[in-house]
Amino acid sequence: MTLAVDEPRIQQVVGSLNHKMLINGEWVDAASGRTFDSLNPATEEVLVSVPYGQAEDADRAVRAARAAFAEDSAWRRMSHGQRGRIVHKVGDLILEHLEEFALLESLDNGKPYAVAKAMDVPMAADVFHYMSGWATKIEGNTIPASALDPQAYLSFTLREPVGVCAQIIPWNFPLVMAAWKVGPALAAGCTVVLKPAEQTPLSALLLGELVMRAGVPAGVLNIVTGFGDAGAALAAHPDVDKVAFTGSTEVGREIVRAAAGNLKKVTLELGGKSPNVVYADADIDKAIAGSADAIFFNQGESCIAGSRLYVEEPVYDQVVEGIVEQGRQIRLGNGLDPQTTMGPLVSQEQFDRVTGYLDVSRSEGATVIGGDRVGDRGYFVAPTVLTGTREDMKAVREEIFGPVVAAAQFRAETDILPTANNTNYGLGAGVFTRDITKAYRTARRLRAGTVWINTWNVGDAALPFGGYKESGWGREQGHAVFDNYLETKTVITDLS
Ligand code: NAP
Ligand code: MG
Repeated sequence: MTLAVDEPRIQQVVGSLNHKMLINGEWVDAASGRTFDSLNPATEEVLVSVPYGQAEDADRAVRAARAAFAEDSAWRRMSHGQRGRIVHKVGDLILEHLEEFALLESLDNGKPYAVAKAMDVPMAADVFHYMSGWATKIEGNTIPASALDPQAYLSFTLREPVGVCAQIIPWNFPLVMAAWKVGPALAAGCTVVLKPAEQTPLSALLLGELVMRAGVPAGVLNIVTGFGDAGAALAAHPDVDKVAFTGSTEVGREIVRAAAGNLKKVTLELGGKSPNVVYADADIDKAIAGSADAIFFNQGESCIAGSRLYVEEPVYDQVVEGIVEQGRQIRLGNGLDPQTTMGPLVSQEQFDRVTGYLDVSRSEGATVIGGDRVGDRGYFVAPTVLTGTREDMKAVREEIFGPVVAAAQFRAETDILPTANNTNYGLGAGVFTRDITKAYRTARRLRAGTVWINTWNVGDAALPFGGYKESGWGREQGHAVFDNYLETKTVITDLS
């Protein structure tokens, strides 16, 4: 196999990365001196060791972020224009390091290098570019009061940064998730402690270097590498003003409980079990390609995966066969192999979780098409379609986070909507049809934060993203994200 990036270059990129945590502008070890290994999920080999940050390190990082947020700090006194230019510069620097980021994402997460290079890294840069423009456009209002004497009072609002933000992110899109969190927080003028996932800390460390190089003052962005206990310490910390979390629903609930102490602001993005409704009048080729992409993109390790497929009866066999065939054409392999279109799952744990769902599905009576382990090294699971599924099956109810779609057929539009909404989640949903009226009618009735019509997986820094129901609290992306990072202060003046 000829790799897209040769071995000396890999050594150089991985070797030159800071393998320490970023606290108060310095690259430091954990207080305990302990480290943990980050693995390459394609080979199961250790890539590097990074500091094992725990509560004490989280506390140090919070104190640095608090100091950087002081009234008279360089960050708080910086003009909005300058702050915007710095955030924009981070986007530029990400693009300058496109190849390095793509390599680190592929090595650490397993995803194909080509995909990271074409999608993850440019998207992350675009988030910083888009958010940077808002730094100079965060405005309050002058508000005519309702019952007050208009000549006696002048009232207006100020939008102020919420303060010290803890940001806890998952391993499926490590750089993109870091950008979604850090970009708007910096544009809003907050300070940050970021905790990347234990499985994928590397791209966040390179991002930290670039943020410092762009001119962000020391302590404004801190990065604590570690496990769930470091995240828990941040979520519970009395001097953190806000926590933004992306990950599992289970941990999301723990975050809410931990945040209750000082009632810190909380936003959550908690995954989904997104329904994909294919009507018989759809452009079938488009529906097959879109539905396959909905579930197989990013190894299925995607919160918006279209993991529940509902196809109208007359085209059910054709659509399911088409998706199975698309799955067969996927080339599983090392993300650095240019032929690869799907990488391994991120970890042994995730491999066990996904294959565990397949075992349960078989025992519940579903037919499992695909789903084999590929190779004897690395966490590869073949694209999988489950047929003969029922609504009460585990694989239909719970988020699997792997390349596994549960297919079922339906008879009528009136039947499918309650079924499609029959989930505790509400992150994404999709509909394939040529009938525009039916498309909008369905889109309106689907209870989800994003609905795709005749496509899937499309997103943009300018478009709000988040969940209904147990898929989360709040919206990221777009100007909506600033509601998470700004407080509103009302100032009332007696003019008499
Ligand atoms: P997870 O445990 O929810 O991890 C997400 C982040 O939270 C990681 O940085 C994790 O740190 C941290 N964390 C763990 N326990 C914490 C706690 N008590 N307090 C604060 N932070 C904590 O997710 P996972 O175990 O990696 O994956 C499990 C399942 O979650 C997946 O199978 C999938 O269903 C779902 N998931 C959803 C998304 C999404 O985009 N919504 C992303 C990833 C996973 P460590 O990684 O260091 O433990
Ligand atoms: Mg790793």
